Amino acid sequence: MRLPFRLGLRGELLLMLVATMAVVVVLFAALWLHEKRSNQDARELSATALREMSREGLLTRGQTLSSQLAEAATNPLYYLDLAKLGELARAALRQPDVVYVVIHDADGQVVHDGSGDIPAFGQPMSDAMAYEALAASGVHAQWSEKLLDVASPIRIGDERIGGVRVGLSRDGATRREIEMLVPLGDRLQAASNEHLAWILALLAALGIIALGAMWLLQRRVVQPIQGLAEAAVRIEQGRYADVRVQSDRQDEIGELVRTFSRMSDSVARHDRDIRRMAYTDSLTGLSNRLAFREALDERLMTLQATSGELALLFVDLDDFKRVNDTLGHEAGDEVLGQLSMRIRLAVERLGGVGAEIARFGGDEFIVLFMAEDIRTSSGQLAESIIEEVQRPLVLRGRQVFLGASVGITLFPFDASAAGPLLKNADIAMYQAKVAGKGCYRFYSKAMDQAVERRVQLEEELRGAWDRGELSVHYQPIYRLADRRLMGAEALCRWQHPVLGVVPPSVFIEVAEKSGLIEALGRNVLVQACRDAAEWSQPGQEPPFVSVNISPRQLRTGDLPDVVASALASTGVLPRQLHVELTETAVLGDEVQASALLSRLRATGVKVWLDDFGTGFSGLSHLRRVPVDGVKIDRSFVADVLRDPDDLALTSAIIAMAHSLGITVVAEGIEAEGQYEVLRERGCDQGQGFWLGRPMPAAEILRSFQE
Ligand code: C2E
Ligand code: MG
Ligand code: MG
Repeated sequence: MRLPFRLGLRGELLLMLVATMAVVVVLFAALWLHEKRSNQDARELSATALREMSREGLLTRGQTLSSQLAEAATNPLYYLDLAKLGELARAALRQPDVVYVVIHDADGQVVHDGSGDIPAFGQPMSDAMAYEALAASGVHAQWSEKLLDVASPIRIGDERIGGVRVGLSRDGATRREIEMLVPLGDRLQAASNEHLAWILALLAALGIIALGAMWLLQRRVVQPIQGLAEAAVRIEQGRYADVRVQSDRQDEIGELVRTFSRMSDSVARHDRDIRRMAYTDSLTGLSNRLAFREALDERLMTLQATSGELALLFVDLDDFKRVNDTLGHEAGDEVLGQLSMRIRLAVERLGGVGAEIARFGGDEFIVLFMAEDIRTSSGQLAESIIEEVQRPLVLRGRQVFLGASVGITLFPFDASAAGPLLKNADIAMYQAKVAGKGCYRFYSKAMDQAVERRVQLEEELRGAWDRGELSVHYQPIYRLADRRLMGAEALCRWQHPVLGVVPPSVFIEVAEKSGLIEALGRNVLVQACRDAAEWSQPGQEPPFVSVNISPRQLRTGDLPDVVASALASTGVLPRQLHVELTETAVLGDEVQASALLSRLRATGVKVWLDDFGTGFSGLSHLRRVPVDGVKIDRSFVADVLRDPDDLALTSAIIAMAHSLGITVVAEGIEAEGQYEVLRERGCDQGQGFWLGRPMPAAEILRSFQE
């Protein structure tokens, strides 16, 4: 049964107690009623017995008196001795209770009644009992309400000469009866009262015992359970600090309370752990995105009230992917750990009171910073963070150089809500990347347009090939030893109807991110093969064309098929085609890439590693990846004349590659000096503005025909 209201354990106990007490009271009441009835019965029985007794006594007395009088009056009646009869009658009248005496003759006429002048003498008895008295042959008693009339005949021999009648009042007997009954009733009443008192005392004792039991239950059971229930509510609300339950009792309740307390501790511990896990980045120990969002919202709310200012700095590591790809994820994690410490130090050094640092995922960090003159000080902080990140890192005994790009947005100048502020910081960071990385940018409204342009660029790039806006240019590649033209690198160009020539550094990334690169790469490959098919001159080794392949193209896995169909459709020989892959593309998934490259090389196509030296792979990787050539990145070539380290490295790459039977190509030769140095060191081939700029297909065709 369900009650419409909540009774509670205490209520239930109380109800049970009241019910039990009610049953006990009813039982006692029944007992007492029964007792009262038997008392009444006893009283009635004794009254009846007493009445019988006194009636018997009166009758016996009446009979005795009547018969004695009849005896004594026999002779005086016979002789009509009135004096004697009077004497006898008066003597009888003096007896207790006797109210009248009548001596009569055989006809029923009064002879004497004990009075002096006997007024009724000779008169017949006319009372109601006279007839029976006269008719009785022996002693005869008659009862009326007030009287007992005992008549005795007076005989001489067989002859009846008269009789006597003695009237006795019943009042005396009744009085005595009452006199005897009253103390009896009193005693019975006293006994009954005593019983009642006992019953009441028993009831009271039971009541007290029940109340005591109730109090005990309340204290020993209900209260602890209530305490636990309240504690459970606090646990439910997450107020673990307010949960204080303990007991040193040795019974089940004590055990329950202790178990509950242990359980509460463990729930609180788990809750703390979960909270920590939910709010911190496990790798760096910094806050995570969720925690940062909450902190930012909170901070903005107080700042809106106090009209304060703050800066959000979005820090993105430059080329961090290379670390992961080339040194492995463990090294990447270590780098993130070390750099997060440095960022924290930089923030602390600038005294950012109430600053918050969070890792936003991957290689992104975000800093909430508050200071006087927020624009200047946040610029200083960004500079100091960039400096910190640029200091070389030591990873397993190896030095690693990284950089960071920082975007800054200011509250309340750029936006007032968390979402737009974060977006602004991201946009500003992206602009820092576009501006060449390793620098910081403040957000400005104009940046929004730049981002929009980027989205627009992607839209426009989508149909650019079909509209004929994209073309392939070729940069000649020479053998350094005799400066003979060996082949050319295919480089994509976009002739935008409005923007003019858009360089690959801008649109290749857009194509890569949007996935357009797969189709674009295929088109460039086919176009390059088609053009290269015309370069061959009779009697000469046919020139090669080298085509850049993006990491994404490599990942799709169908590169060997795409290459095979391009070769088949254009008639270019496999050894005429070189594919250029960057280190990071190859090392991202070394096993799959190696398998693909082996398949390609098996068909005769050559594989070159582009921009070699910018990754962290080092020379040792060359042993594991099946390549035919490496292209030394132009950043090394640019400094070979000035920086002895770069020259040493370039020389080492050349020597190492040669020892593995790999061709070495130098990129970005811009001066004759560079050309000479590289030739001296034994570099096989080279390209660069000094040797020849990228040119349209028709132009390079002429170069081959010369
Ligand atoms: P990359 O493969 O390293 O190509 C060489 C880049 O260096 C070309 O830039 C070229 O114009 C430039 N270069 C050549 N000699 C010199 C020099 O002496 N000095 C300087 N400063 N630069 C020189 P470009 O054409 O702007 O291409 C940039 C990058 O875009 C390429 O670098 C390549 O990674 C990518 N790319 C170009 N076309 C394609 C393509 O069709 N597919 C793919 N996936 N990537 C492409
Ligand atoms: Mg290239
Ligand atoms: Mg290159």
